[in-house]
Amino acid sequence: MRTKLLSEIKSKIREIPDWPHKGVNFKDITPLLQDKNLFHKMIDFLIAPYSGKKVDKIVGIDARGFILAAASAYKFKTGLAIVRKKGKLPAKTVSREYSLEYASNVLEMHEDAILPGEKVVIVDDVLATGGTMKAAIDLVKQLKGKIVGVNFLIELTYLKGRKNIKGQKIRSLLQY
Ligand code: AMP
Repeated sequence: MRTKLLSEIKSKIREIPDWPHKGVNFKDITPLLQDKNLFHKMIDFLIAPYSGKKVDKIVGIDARGFILAAASAYKFKTGLAIVRKKGKLPAKTVSREYSLEYASNVLEMHEDAILPGEKVVIVDDVLATGGTMKAAIDLVKQLKGKIVGVNFLIELTYLKGRKNIKGQKIRSLLQY
């Protein structure tokens, strides 16, 4: 049943070659989000490994991570904290720079987004090189949160992003 549902979920991920840049095979999750049954099931699968565990907050990464994290937090009855791109958060922030292929980027969190010792799960849509998640992990650690796990809908295993986020309990629902 789970295997069948996972392959149905995977069939709703649309691949867009050479977008937003040549050489990137973009995984578009919007067809999955539009399907009421599979969207629901996907969130259930994402949070299932944490059933019975204490989690205080789900942390979502800008921007598609917000969608998955918000639905997960609602379903799991936890708080939600957000990691945003530079300049978007209005109150006092902590920030982390990370490298992209040809440039660098900055991610920020409000400094009161996580209380010291809170147990958190960090969620994003895609694990590619792992740079984005590494920056999010560093922000949560700076705020003294305890990371229970990091959760992806999609893992691009050929990019070996796990190497960048060693030491964490990493889970992904779909692998390519
Ligand atoms: P990375 O830091 O290389 O692991 O990239 C992960 C971030 O970039 C995630 O927030 C994704 O939303 C986005 N991303 C990277 N590669 C892809 C891809 N092939 N399709 C969709 N999103 C991607």
